Order: sequence, then structure tokens, then C-alpha cells
Amino acid sequence: MAKRDYYEVLGVSKTATKEELRKAYRKLAMQYHPDRNPDNKEAEEKFKEAAEAYEVLTDDDKKAKYDKFGHDGLRGGQGFQGFNDVNDIFSHFSDIFGSSSIFDDFFNTGSTRTRARRRGTGTPGSDLKVVLKLTLEEIASGVTKKIKIKKYVRCDVCKGTGAEAGTSMKTCPVCNGAGEVKSVSRSVFGQFVNIQPCSNCNGEGTVVDSPCRKCYGDGRVQDETTIKINVPAGVHEGSYLTMRAEGNAGLRGGQSGDIIVVFQEEKHDYFVRDGDDVIFDLYLNYPDAVLGAEVEVPTLTGRAKLKIDGGIQPGKLLKMREKGIQHLNRHGAGDQYVRINIEIPKKVNAKERDLLKELANMPNIKTPSGNDDKNFFKKFGL
Ligand SMILES: [Zn+2]
Ligand SMILES: [Zn+2]
Repeated sequence: MAKRDYYEVLGVSKTATKEELRKAYRKLAMQYHPDRNPDNKEAEEKFKEAAEAYEVLTDDDKKAKYDKFGHDGLRGGQGFQGFNDVNDIFSHFSDIFGSSSIFDDFFNTGSTRTRARRRGTGTPGSDLKVVLKLTLEEIASGVTKKIKIKKYVRCDVCKGTGAEAGTSMKTCPVCNGAGEVKSVSRSVFGQFVNIQPCSNCNGEGTVVDSPCRKCYGDGRVQDETTIKINVPAGVHEGSYLTMRAEGNAGLRGGQSGDIIVVFQEEKHDYFVRDGDDVIFDLYLNYPDAVLGAEVEVPTLTGRAKLKIDGGIQPGKLLKMREKGIQHLNRHGAGDQYVRINIEIPKKVNAKERDLLKELANMPNIKTPSGNDDKNFFKKFGL
């Protein structure tokens, strides 16, 4: 498929300023953001397309080549290769995605994007994934769980700086504090400047002169901590919760990662979940099914009484309103459905046998396939 014109993609004129480009891009990025369009391939393509257009048009060098030669101007050499993965986009435009509160406000359900790496403030800590098993009862009403996890926490001796008491940080001698190293290469289109994070200082621009003896200059140590997870009612298998800045502490004061709690639903012995409804199989004995009864049934929140009308048929579903799972993020709850089953005894004693035989001859008990009904087979032409 031919690539669309970058100006057309962003909906701007050829004379658009960087600020106009930024605004146009941000608008599109929010519209097609993967967090807002889960499993939407088309939106993902639009998201990538906008990122590519923005990347080229805000780079003076690339823009000049694009204006002169079109898409061909960017091929080959170290020109623009496109984005393969949306995470590339997040890390590439960290100025837009990382430090901007707009995205955090809009997408606070969590994403795995890479945080901005900022000079002088250490290296961000990584996210931690926690898988949390929940029973249906816990899901029905919500629950608070405390779990122990191992994670990096700020070193209390050096207060996260990584430097031994009384010493300080010094400018990285490799990058001279820039945090990045430039290399220049040539191609038919001219010079390309390739910028990479400095490996000596991890892109931080500073290095520890005399490392802290507890954390060996990392500014963080591994520790076991207890975290409290507030699980809202109504979550389901695979849904997740992001606990901002509760993950691994960053290196030398860098921003902490998040904890991403992924919920796992344990199979219940008696209840089957259907959305926010649950189904429970109730076994009635034959006399109760015929005569009716008031029975007690379990629900996810305790016992409840249920009236059974006489003559109820097996397979019938009785609805117990709002006895299911509370809806996530809105009021109300699903229902519990009680499915009627008739318990047929596998063994009877002599007295029961006699009674059942007697019963079998009663006018209301005889089934249409009863031995006495000579007309029954005639219905089938037999
Ligand atoms: Zn330390
Ligand atoms: Zn450096």
C-alpha cells in the first residue's frame, strides 16, 4: 500500500510550525491510542502512521529530504525505517508520552510504555507484574489483599543517590554530562547523526565518584515488602490494575516503575460465571419438585431462601435478582440463576420400591409412554 502524504496524515499545511505539528499529532495519538482501542488493528496502524509523520516532519533534516524527494528521500542509509511496535513509539516520543500528564490522565488504566529517561535523575525502575488469584466470592464483592513481593527499594543509607556519604556525583567523562553519544555517518543524502544513550553513565550524564557501601552505587537495594492491593468487585480473568510507582525503584533516584496486577479467576466448585451472572445447579428430590418447597441455596455472599413452585420442570432457570457479581465501575450486580435438576435415587429399599410401584399407577403419575396407553404408539404410526 502506498504511503499517505505526511502532511495529509497529520492534517496540517506544509508551513505548519513545530507546535502545530505537535498539537495535531497529540490529537491523533489520543484518538488512536492502543489503550483506547484494544485489539483494533486499524487504529494501531493509524497510530503508527501518525507517529511516523510526526517523527519525520519535526526533524529538520528528514523534513527537508521529505519535502524535496517525498517518501523516497527517506529510504536507505540511516534514514527513517518506520515503527514496528507501538512501544517503540512510546519510547521514541517520551517527551509527549512520558512526561505529559495528559496521557496519564487519559490512560491511567496502565500501559507498558517506557518511561522517559531524563538526565540527572537516574534511570527509571522497571515495572513488576504480579499475578493475583481470586475466588469468585472475592470477585463478587471486591477484596483487599496483602501480598509479599521482592522489589528494589530506595537505599536508605545514601537516600537513593548511590554516593557514599560526604561524596558527590561527578560529570560523566565519556559524554561530558550529555547522557548521549553522537556518531556521524554519511550516505547519498548527506550526513546522518546517530544519537545513542551513553553506556558509561547509563544516559544519566553523571557518575558516582565514591559508591555507597550498602547499594554499591545503585541507589537502591532489593527488599521484601508487603503491598496492599484493593481489588474492585467485578474484575475478570486477565483484567489488570496498575499501581503507579509501586514497582522497582529506579537507579540513583530514578522514577519507580509500576506494579501491574493481573487477575486470575479460580474455578469455582459450584458456581459457573457468565459475565456478572452466576449459574448454580440445584438438585431437588422428586416429591419437592412435584409439591413445591422452600429451600435454602448458597450464593456468593451467603445463604438465601428460594421458593420452588409445585410442578417445576428440570432445566428451568430461576432468577435471584442481584445475587451475582457486582458490576465493575458501576452500580448494581448481576443475577444468580438457579438451574433446576431432579435427583433420581440410584438405590431404593423394599418399602420405597413398593410405594413407587403404587405411585406409578396413579393417574397423574403415569407418563405418556405408560404401558397401558394403547394409543400412544399410534401417534407415531406404529
Ligand atoms: Zn546506597
Ligand atoms: Zn555518560
